[in-house]
Order: sequence, then structure tokens, then C-alpha cells
Amino acid sequence: MQLVTRTEWGAPAETPAADLPTALGVDVHWIGGPYTTPDHSQCAAEVRAIRQEHLSDPVQHWVDIAYNFVVCQHGYVFEGRGLHKESGANGNQTVNHARYAVCAIQGTNESAGDTLLQGLRDAIDYLQANGAGDEIRGHRDDFNTDCPGDELYAWVQAGAPRPGGGGSPTPTPSPSPSAGPAWPGEYLALRTPMLHDDNVRTWQQRMRDRGWSITVDGWYGPASASICRQFQTEKNLDPVDGIVGPVTWGAAMRTDNIT
Ligand SMILES: [Zn+2]
Ligand SMILES: [Zn+2]
Repeated sequence: MQLVTRTEWGAPAETPAADLPTALGVDVHWIGGPYTTPDHSQCAAEVRAIRQEHLSDPVQHWVDIAYNFVVCQHGYVFEGRGLHKESGANGNQTVNHARYAVCAIQGTNESAGDTLLQGLRDAIDYLQANGAGDEIRGHRDDFNTDCPGDELYAWVQAGAPRPGGGGSPTPTPSPSPSAGPAWPGEYLALRTPMLHDDNVRTWQQRMRDRGWSITVDGWYGPASASICRQFQTEKNLDPVDGIVGPVTWGAAMRTDNIT
């Protein structure tokens, strides 16, 4: 799970929200309204904006961002109120006492990509490992609202399956000849602190073998992200986001697409 802690996205470390050590389960939300996902570097600002909107709501008098976790289309899990805290998002106190709240940063004009679903599942798993029961519901199950939209609601009704199945992120099956290992289940992306591990090294070595001018040092820095973007553009991958997920990893490992 790619967790972005409160301090990392610019909120005070502690939330004044009430404690809720256990709950029956989790409600899934979306932000609703038109929204077009920008580069991930803008996502923390969006989470701060959501928090500010909640803090200044004249009716609800929220003490903090209402959700326990907020997930962006890039699969990052932003810590809202966090674990063991009562949500303010589910519509009334009865539901807030019964379920934690996880919100997708998905606009009404956007679809829920696999990366978003991975992130939502990560957040749900994290809550379930820390006091949440196994009920997973859409906000509309508990309150008069369209939230979380038809697409996410269908996913929730199907049991919120992890894309690709299994209990952890799974590589997209590729029938193509491969020169390297399957996607390790970790998104290689620019982050703070900078990602540094063998998965980065493996990907960098593979890109170097393909002819890209890249340093093989295991650090996923701006140069790696730039190479990744250029590669995604060359291979017509979507999105071009500089993040090595299952599709980008798979394309890099193939041996029949080297130009
Ligand atoms: Zn909702
Ligand atoms: Zn993002």
C-alpha cells in the first residue's frame, strides 16, 4: 500500500475526531461532481482542498476531513482521520458509528481505473486489519445519495474485488515473451522519501538493456520518472504518468516490442 500520511500531505499529525476502535465495516464514497485527475503531484493539494471544504462547511461543522482514507486514481492512499477514528462522511451518526469511510477521488466524468480500485482495496484491507468488520457497502446503501456512483457501486456489490484477483496486487497477465520477472506488486513512482529498492533496480536495468540512457542505482528519482514517461509515450500506454505499474512494467519486460 502506498500510504500518504497526514503530515506528508500537509495536515496536522493528530485529528480531533472521536475514537472508534472497531466498526462493522467500511462505506465506499466518491467525491462526485466533475473532476479531472491531474498529475499525481497535484493530488495532495486536492486532499488539502477537500479537508478545507469540510472544515469550513457551515452545516456539518466537521472537525477534520470527514473520511478515514482518501484514494487517488494513481492508487495512493491518503490518511484522512485514519485508523480507529469515527468518520463524519456517512450521513448520520448511526452509520458513522457503524462504518469507516473510504473516498475515491473520482469525478462523475471519470471511470474507476484498476489503479484506483487497487488503492481502495488497500485502504479497505488496512481498515479491516485494524478493527473494521468485513461489511463493505456503498454510501447509497446507508443514506439517500448517488454516492459512490454506479461504477464503484457495482464494484462494491461484487465484493470490492482486487483487480486481477488474489490478496495482493497481481501483474496483468501478458502472453508476450518476457525478458524479466513479473511485476512485483509495487508501484514505482516519485515519492517522498524517494523510493529506493531492488524493484527499481530491476526496472532500471531492464530499461538500460533496452537502450535507454538510465543510471541503474535503485533510486526512483526524476530521471527515472522522465524515462518512464518517454517510454509510456513511445508505447502508447495510458496514462502517461511516470509511474511503473503492472502495464508499464510488463511492456518494459517484453522482448518483442523493442524499437
Ligand atoms: Zn459518500
Ligand atoms: Zn494521485
